[in-house]
Amino acid sequence: MAFLDNVEYTPDSNGVAEYVKCPLVDDWIEPVDCMENQDVKEEYIPARFKAKSDWKEICISCPFRDY
Ligand code: SF4
Repeated sequence: MAFLDNVEYTPDSNGVAEYVKCPLVDDWIEPVDCMENQDVKEEYIPARFKAKSDWKEICISCPFRDY
């Protein structure tokens, strides 16, 4: 287990994040889901990532943004 700022992640053998405990869902996601959330239009982001009222700010300020 490792942390980048206050966000937990599981590093692979090279230290690169394999799974990230996304602060939007407080659960583990794969980097591909993270990238999709950053790249796609808002309406295509799954609802579970938008449950928190300040989800946009959380995602924008997340250390895994553009990781
Ligand atoms: S950048 Fe956004 S989607 Fe990715 S882990 Fe952070 S909060 Fe979650």
